[in-house]
Amino acid sequence: MNKKPFDQAVSLACDALAGLRENPAGPLPRASHASLERLVNAKAAPIAAAPTSTGSKAERLEALRAEIGDCCKCPHLVKSRSNLVFGVGDPEARLMFVGEAPGADEDLMGEPFVGKAGQLLTKIIEAMGFQRSEVYIANVLKCRPDMPPGESGNRKPRAEEMATCLPFLIRQIEIIEPQCLVALGATAMEGLLGEPVVMRDVRGRWHSFKGIPLMATYHPAYLLRNQSLTEKRKVWEDMLLVLERLGEPISARQRGFFLPK
Ligand code: SF4
Repeated sequence: MNKKPFDQAVSLACDALAGLRENPAGPLPRASHASLERLVNAKAAPIAAAPTSTGSKAERLEALRAEIGDCCKCPHLVKSRSNLVFGVGDPEARLMFVGEAPGADEDLMGEPFVGKAGQLLTKIIEAMGFQRSEVYIANVLKCRPDMPPGESGNRKPRAEEMATCLPFLIRQIEIIEPQCLVALGATAMEGLLGEPVVMRDVRGRWHSFKGIPLMATYHPAYLLRNQSLTEKRKVWEDMLLVLERLGEPISARQRGFFLPK
């Protein structure tokens, strides 16, 4: 999907202003400065309109989204993104899933976890007894990690990229106040904790993020690559722990998912 002309112009503005920040004395090209500033100010205008500390959770999330606007903190990602992927789901959710970053599908759709891995996540959520719309889903990084020209696929977000964007996720979590967080994959866990982790060491037990119980489990994309019953069961056991923590009823059938017959 091609970017809209306005988005392209904003990207150019971001690049130019980022250059200005790096070299405050450096002049922008003639005739571009005023128009670029106008563009940025035009997009910035709604930011001050809605405070994120009052109103319902939905209103506060909406205000945060407006505040983030066309964020330009990572100019290299701004240049390549189609959409900033904020998050989706119930602002009142008791359960929140956190992934690492949008992939190609998510970048195009503007929604997290909509590709094949996302469809598997939706199945996991439904197997837990929820609808996708009843939980909240977001990523540590809101913009798709850029790829070298001509290369497809997705790359892992860098630690500094996640650290730059993490404050937005923290504010989402502070607004939603979920009873449980689930980090999907080692990179998401690294983004939250600020240090690399090995999934087999951290999954299956409770951690804490800003005082909220945090469970780590494998990314659904891992399950698409490793379709063994054993790996599916590991993720499912993590989700059983989450259901217990939420006080949700668990049927005998649910307890037996992915066990050898
Ligand atoms: S990744 Fe986050 S901090 Fe970087 S430009 Fe996107 S929204 Fe802004």
